[in-house]
Amino acid sequence: MSKLSEIEILAERNPDIPIEVIVKEDLLRQGIAWSREALAFAADYKRKAYFIFSFDMVSISGMEQRENLKAPEEIRLEGGAYNFHPVVVSVRLNPDSPYRVETEGNSLVLKLGGAPIADVQLQKAPEFYNRTLSNGRLVPEIAPTIEWGYLIYLTAFRLCQYPAAGEGCLYCDINENYRQQKNAGRPYAPVKSVEEVVEALEIIASVDGESKAYTVTGGSITETLEGKSEIDFYVRYTEAIERRLPGRWISKAALQALPKDDVKRLKAAGVQIYHPNFEIWNARLFETYCPGKARHTGRDEWISRILGAADVFGAENVIPNFVAGVEMAPPAGFESVDAAIASTAEGLEFFMSRGVLPRFTTWCPEPLSALGKERRGAPLEYYIRLLRVYRDTMAKYKLPAPRGYGEPGLGRAVFSVSSFMDIL
Ligand code: SF4
Repeated sequence: MSKLSEIEILAERNPDIPIEVIVKEDLLRQGIAWSREALAFAADYKRKAYFIFSFDMVSISGMEQRENLKAPEEIRLEGGAYNFHPVVVSVRLNPDSPYRVETEGNSLVLKLGGAPIADVQLQKAPEFYNRTLSNGRLVPEIAPTIEWGYLIYLTAFRLCQYPAAGEGCLYCDINENYRQQKNAGRPYAPVKSVEEVVEALEIIASVDGESKAYTVTGGSITETLEGKSEIDFYVRYTEAIERRLPGRWISKAALQALPKDDVKRLKAAGVQIYHPNFEIWNARLFETYCPGKARHTGRDEWISRILGAADVFGAENVIPNFVAGVEMAPPAGFESVDAAIASTAEGLEFFMSRGVLPRFTTWCPEPLSALGKERRGAPLEYYIRLLRVYRDTMAKYKLPAPRGYGEPGLGRAVFSVSSFMDIL
């Protein structure tokens, strides 16, 4: 059976999940190959900024066309043989993917196994991508945008202290990505100063009308960084931004699950949405695949802190991320889709029944991470069923679409690393 027939059969069997969403999830789990001409075409648009992890299925050393320097941050699929509504997809490079972007005349098209599927649109680099700070660094080095320009992504610390201590999450390549980018000559610095972040945002605020939210995030600080604990280090960014540009954007912070007093400091600084990312619901897999978090905080305490944060922020403003699909990663993951979905459904039920709104990023098996070496993501069927159980559990508890992601709904959503907003 051809790859395209597989997609068509899945779409037929799952009429409640639009075919463009099925293709989006497949692109996120398998990555995208680019023809030489398509890459040359894309180089004139907003390029991949490598804003935290690699989110690629091949390391830079394996990119024969130097895709890391030319590929776009995201693509938007539209029209084509199946009359797609627009869906925005993060670009995960994989020269071996069955999906390939090629040129056709003066435009781009996505093909699967050689068959055209949809037109590909790219986003122009915003004007501020060419602007520099007073220290000579380019604005996108400090404050790139993703989600089609909606979200400014502020990775204040590009490394994580868990992998440095041999306890990194097994699906994560943050420190390895830092090393490969530095070796490839990208101007990465481990820490962004508060001053340069504020200066970059001042420039963006003066010229940009697209961005509506920013996220302050970075690697975990288990000891200290520059003499500061995790809360002391990260809270300064929001404080400074909100002092200088109060309420200009929806303010989000993606940090560890912190004790309640620290969470109150985030709130006092101006954070509106808190992402204490949970990653994997199953207790055994949380212990195995997130060894640092399990040892340092522990799963029960992590859950208790999420619920404590809901008291501070309001439950709907606490949005823990799950890495969708990693619970099926060998060697310890679930072997059946049924078991994996049952486990994550339990996690969704637990949080959503309390008003907390989890969300997903589709796992990208990065070869520089411990679990990504074989580049074997979860089956596509898993993602289809996960979206369904997510949407149905949201409906069961009458929960609103998560705030800080733009508009929900097919054709309108911009969240690019999973489809949870496309199906609401
Ligand atoms: S806490 Fe885990 S997922 Fe987050 S940056 Fe560190 S190693 Fe990666």
